[in-house]
Amino acid sequence: MTIQSFIPPKRILMGPGPSDISPQVLQALSRPTVGHLDPLFINMMDELKQLLKYAFQTDNEFTIAVSAPGSAGMEACFVNLVEPGDKVIVCRNGVFGDRMRENVIRAGGSAVIVDDNWGEAVSIDKVESALKAHPDTKILAFVHAETSTGAQSDAKVLGKLAKQYGVLTIVDTVTSLAGIPLKVDEWQLDAVYSGSQKCLSCVPGLSPVTFSPLAIEKIQSRRTPVQSWFLDQSLVLGYWSGNDKRSYHHTAPVNSLYALHESLVMLKNEGLENTWKRHQEMHNKLKNGLDKLGFEFVVEPEIRLPQLNTILVPQGIDDARVRGQLLNQYNLEIGAGLGDLAGKAWRIGLMGYGARNENVSLCLRALEEVMVL
Ligand SMILES: *Cc1c(COP(=O)(O)O)cnc(C)c1O
Repeated sequence: MTIQSFIPPKRILMGPGPSDISPQVLQALSRPTVGHLDPLFINMMDELKQLLKYAFQTDNEFTIAVSAPGSAGMEACFVNLVEPGDKVIVCRNGVFGDRMRENVIRAGGSAVIVDDNWGEAVSIDKVESALKAHPDTKILAFVHAETSTGAQSDAKVLGKLAKQYGVLTIVDTVTSLAGIPLKVDEWQLDAVYSGSQKCLSCVPGLSPVTFSPLAIEKIQSRRTPVQSWFLDQSLVLGYWSGNDKRSYHHTAPVNSLYALHESLVMLKNEGLENTWKRHQEMHNKLKNGLDKLGFEFVVEPEIRLPQLNTILVPQGIDDARVRGQLLNQYNLEIGAGLGDLAGKAWRIGLMGYGARNENVSLCLRALEEVMVL
């Protein structure tokens, strides 16, 4: 038997990511590959930096896309900022907070955990108590939008609190970037990472990151070299910096970066405020439909993420059967529950290009039809 070309079906992606990609972005991906040190490509990378600064709402000079998925952006933040012995307060209210803890430990730091229940926001009071109890803390780490539960935390207040206590922040904005308001400079966030395949609706495998001048200072004053060669941002900086001295570090994922450029151009054209509004409107529409069908949300309305809707699987309904039917009969993917919510919840994503009327209508219709069978 010969193995032939892989031709995937056209799915509608309404899970926790990857999200639906617009034809415009897919087209950008298939443009001719140029050399990654080609002057034209270098120029595109400079534009990409500008566009990322806009998306993050920052003037940080160090704003780039790590050539690897969101998890690598996470690791880049931790391995660069955390030195052996550094104390880091890690907020854990879902899967990704726990991964932050793993990263701290592997970087040789010590983690002070602030736990909150899954589905709840990070408690500001608990974080303040931890900051008071541990005056030697160097970094506060938290997830802005917990994709495992659909809850958002107050990054603005946490950023301010960190500054009051003189600590840096590492913030996971993988699901929040371009989906809900995120203002890196105004909120004084220091090391912020995201992903290409959530609300940016780009191909998976890139991680936008931005480092504040304070974060850069911390990296430059390290006593020990960053353990990871690939993720050592002081080396990557020479590759992404806008001068003529650009030298080889690794081969950029050229075509993926075309796609990111295109999705950011689309974001810029729509405007961040409009994008945030669209996510909220599509969420409201989905929520109204789900209410009518009798579904219950896991997260309280005030902290609900519009781009990630977690609902309880109704009593007596087989989680896997429904998701299987949605996929096979409607080409529609929704997400399963994670951790404690496995088998008990569904996660419906409305991310980026996926946050549109047709998707909401299809999802509601398909759920209704599949549930009565
Ligand atoms: C998806 C996600 C990640 C990981 O991103 P990958 O691209 O899958 O590596 C990290 N944090 C959050 C909150 C996410 O939703």
